[in-house]
Formats: sequence, C-alpha cells, structure tokens
Amino acid sequence: MRVGVPKEIKNHEYRVGLTPDSVREMVAHGHEVFVEAMAGAGIGATDADYRDAGAAVLTSAREVFDAATMIVKVKEPQAGERAMLRPDHILFTYLHLAPDAEQTADLVRSGATCIAYETVLAADGSLPLLAPMSQVAGRLAVTSGAKCLEREQGGSGTLIGGVPGVAPAKVVVIGGGVVGSNSIAMALGLGADVTVLDRNVTVLTELSHTFGPALKTVYSTRSALEKHVLEADLVIGAVLVAGAAAPKLVTADLVRRMKAGSVLVDVAIDQGGCFETSRPTTHSDPTYIVDDVVHYCVANMPGAVPRTSTFALNNVTLPFALALANKGPKAALIDDPLFLPGLNVIGGHVTCKAVSEALGYDY
Ligand code: NAD
Repeated sequence: MRVGVPKEIKNHEYRVGLTPDSVREMVAHGHEVFVEAMAGAGIGATDADYRDAGAAVLTSAREVFDAATMIVKVKEPQAGERAMLRPDHILFTYLHLAPDAEQTADLVRSGATCIAYETVLAADGSLPLLAPMSQVAGRLAVTSGAKCLEREQGGSGTLIGGVPGVAPAKVVVIGGGVVGSNSIAMALGLGADVTVLDRNVTVLTELSHTFGPALKTVYSTRSALEKHVLEADLVIGAVLVAGAAAPKLVTADLVRRMKAGSVLVDVAIDQGGCFETSRPTTHSDPTYIVDDVVHYCVANMPGAVPRTSTFALNNVTLPFALALANKGPKAALIDDPLFLPGLNVIGGHVTCKAVSEALGYDY
C-alpha cells in the first residue's frame, strides 16, 4: 500500500498522523510511505527522521495525496484536503461528522473510503481511539488546575500538594471515567487531598480498588456535589453522557458560593461543559474569572502537548493502520467487527447510523 501523511493544516494543530517509528513499522511491512515536508515539526520530528525511517518526503500536500492510496491524519480533512480526495483513497483520521454537514457532503461526493478514529470500538463498548486523548486531558487538568491555583493566575495561592505541616489542596473530580481516573492518578501523585464523585457505583468501586484509601469515593447526588464543591480548591469536570450535551452539574449559584480563588477545570467543555458558568477558551487565553473563581475551559487540551498526544494516538491507531495497509480496507474491516464501526463513508454512502440520522442520509 502507498501511505500518505500530509502536514496538519487546521488552526493550532501540531500533531501528525504517523510518527517516524510508525513509518518504520509500515515500511517493514513492505509499504511505501510519503510524508509532507515539515509534517512532524510540531512534535520535533524532522524530515531527516522520516527519511531515516524509510519515508519519501514530498514538498506539498498535493503530491502526498497524488502519490498515496491511504491517507493517515489526525484532524478531519479541511476543505482544500477534501478537494484532493479520490474514489480510490482510504482516509483514516478523526472525522466527527455528525455536527459537520459540509464535510460529510464533501466526503460523500469524493467517493473515498473514510474511516473515523472516534467510532472504532473496543470489546467492552468503549472508544479505544478516543481514550488516549482523554488520558492526556485528564492528566493536564491537574497540572493546568495547579497552575491556576497560583496567586498570579487569580487563584488562592495554594500549592496543590502542600508541604509538611501545611495541608494540600482539596481536589474534587466529578466523573470517574478515563479523564477522571487520570486526573485522580495525577492529583494523588502530587500529594493532593482527592475526592471523586460519580453516579455509577461500579466506577467508584473500581477506582477504590485501583487507588486504595488515599482516594475518597462519593456517590454523586445534588447534596454531595454541593458539599464537596464548596469545600474544594480545585474542581475537575470530567463527566460524559454518551451522545448528549454535558449536564450542568455545578450551577452559577453554587459557583458564587465557592471559596474565593478556587479553580474550575471543565474538561467536558467539548460537550458544552458541566459548569453553568463555563464557556470554551483557547490555549492562548485559557482562563477567565467569574465570582472570584478561576475557570479553565480549553476545548482541545491535548493540543498543548502535541508530542505526547501524537505518540499516544499512534500507539492505538498503528495496529488499525497496519491492518488497512496489509489486508486492504475490505478485508481489514470485515475481519474485525470492532473496526467496522469506524467506517463512516464509502463509495458515496454514509455508513454510520449516528451520522445518517443527524444529517438525513440514507443508511
Ligand atoms: P468516560 O465515559 O470515560 O467517563 C465519564 C464518567 O462520567 C463516567 O464514569 C460516568 O459515570 C460519569 N458521569 C456521567 N454523568 C454523571 C453525573 N451526572 N454525575 C457524576 N458522574 C457522571 O468519559 P471520558 O473519556 O472520561 O470523557 C469525559 C469528558 O471529557 C467528555 O466530555 C470528553 O468529551 C471530554 N474530553 C475533553 C477533552 C478536552 O480537550 N477538553 C479531551 C478529552 C476528553
């Protein structure tokens, strides 16, 4: 298979579809890889690194799209990239088509085989190609929240882990899934006093087994939430209700009653946010203050650490990319019933139920 890796062109996107190590794996399996010049610049991988791994480095995205049969990316193709897709192309990347009618129409028109990272399944029904970004966001939530607790950022001036003789910050994590469990690991590691609230007792039981008595687990009711949020120095919002907007668990009134200088990190902001006072922010201007409470609501947190994020993403996408290249898309998808849900568009047809329902395509 001829595999192409264009440089990402979405604003502020520094990740890349294949690392040099992943390219080496592809080449070892007998595939040809074409990488756009400077594609790895955002993660510190040079064109020479890609050449050493066995890739041919081409000067433009047009050349990469022309040379390759399979395109491996990170972000959904932008309009200029979609215009270069052919019916024989296989596109493997994050797509997020349901809210994006324009992109879906272009992919349908292209005739290409378009496989989305975010709809590939794991045996337990979870989403394995989304998980690494939740891991990154969960861990970053703690380091970003700890920074916000500093006085200069508007925080109360509390060191997250305290020091001997001075109590650590009280960190409250709402939602104990992938984001939440990674926040817990990081916050406990820094010596914080950590409480998690979730409305799923099985989740709380698993977290309790994993982290032991250092972690306080609390079943999430309105009263429990209010009590712990009012005591908190740092609250991390990490809830997810699949396919729905995040529930507004912390009201504006509750925010008004929080301690001055406390911090809210709303990781669920990409689903609308779970604090009533949240609005999306960016890495260049990540925080704002409401009622003396610092809000950090960056919608693409993994973008802050593109190097770690790219390696984490490649760890989970590479086996699927290799299967596509080794067997061809038809056999790779039919052989693996968990990979098949990744197929969103093929030959001018939408094949993802959620996308067809959202945008009115035949399914
Ligand atoms: P997950 O499904 O693994 O975990 C969600 C948890 O929330 C579950 O344990 C669930 O029981 C719990 N929950 C649901 N409703 C609740 C409620 N009312 N009260 C308490 N707990 C509740 O999801 P995840 O992968 O951890 O993702 C969490 C959120 O983070 C999602 O909205 C996801 O889109 C978002 N996210 C954001 C970024 C970013 O850059 N901002 C990056 C990755 C993920």
